[in-house]
Amino acid sequence: MAKPFKLLVLPGDGIGPEVVAAALRVFERICRRERIDTEVGHDVLHGEAWERYGSFCRDETVAAARESQALLVGAVGGPRWDNMIIDGATPAERDGLMRLREDLETYACLRPSRAYETLLDKTPFRPEVVAGADIMVLRELCGGLPYGTPRGIDRLDDGSYQGYDANFYSSHEIRRFAVVGFEIARQRRGKLTSIDKSNVMESGILWRRVVAEVGSGYADIELEHLYADNALYQMMMRPTAFDVVLADNIFGDLASDLVASYAGSLGMLPSASLHGLNSGKPAIYEPVHGSAPDIAGRGIANPIGAILSVAMMFRYGMQRTELARQVDEAVERCLQAEVLPPDLGGNASTEQVTEQILSAL
Ligand code: NAD
Ligand code: MN
Repeated sequence: MAKPFKLLVLPGDGIGPEVVAAALRVFERICRRERIDTEVGHDVLHGEAWERYGSFCRDETVAAARESQALLVGAVGGPRWDNMIIDGATPAERDGLMRLREDLETYACLRPSRAYETLLDKTPFRPEVVAGADIMVLRELCGGLPYGTPRGIDRLDDGSYQGYDANFYSSHEIRRFAVVGFEIARQRRGKLTSIDKSNVMESGILWRRVVAEVGSGYADIELEHLYADNALYQMMMRPTAFDVVLADNIFGDLASDLVASYAGSLGMLPSASLHGLNSGKPAIYEPVHGSAPDIAGRGIANPIGAILSVAMMFRYGMQRTELARQVDEAVERCLQAEVLPPDLGGNASTEQVTEQILSAL
């Protein structure tokens, strides 16, 4: 008998638990129907973990994560825990999710977005500009500014302060990530746009050089380099000009929130954070959005980003593309039926959207 698929559920903070509950219902419904044997564990992460255990991510949580094939995460953070200064703490010690990303080395974060026919008028674009947009932002997730040291806020002799961060990328980190980019481009429409600030950053010069080197082994892929500022501008002006976008940890964070506009809301975007393609290592599936404290606890969060993250789990964690497609289609039918949450201009609750998607399945 095949081993059970081990999933660790970490709902997190704010709307995290609301959208994860919805996604888990979809996951469990399909697994039951398909007779997929699963073993589902639960734990707390970040704010909840800090309140209960005084740690944003416990060693026990990391150990359970290492034993899992997949982690389903809601979102973490909130005003209670953001901007806390903990003397001497590393970035990973200050953020439960960053610790998991680092310890599991899930360096390749896949963040797809697209324009839905039925939601064109919910986007800030003229329909003819955004129709057909279908993009995959790849965000490097284990290096760069969010993890760089030295970092700090120092008091200067004149009594003023200086804050600083360091952006480090090794050729090894860039290369393994670029490989994922070219492989994904090959599975899609064969175009890769790498973005950097090599005009003003040394790490950007190395980035561009290594991506070009990797690209020389992918003659079938059209490689384009853009400066990140221009790239974000082009993504607004010509959404359909992009296929795969390869970006570092910071630029990828910015780009993925930006392209959520194609789908009408940040609440729509899923992600899969992988240790490369087909590594067999644990992967993290989570919506792109944060914990949205402004709407938490009201039952109105859009669960679609989390539900589509389950689709990505079927696709990349189980190699069950047909199940991923079923989830994608059920979401589309929900949108066609105009059962829309408030962020898409409707008045359906998280529960109603989830029920609609479940019934479409
Ligand atoms: P956010 O993504 O939480 O919210 C941005 C805006 O989008 C808000 O107006 C919010 O209401 C809306 N939104 C987001 N998700 C939605 C959904 N599913 N349905 C409906 N509306 C939705 O970003 P923020 O406000 O900048 O950050 C809030 C907290 O989340 C911070 O503590 C931040 O550090 C954290 N954060 C966590 C992650 C993560 O866990 N991966 C990502 C981003 C931000
Ligand atoms: Mn973000």
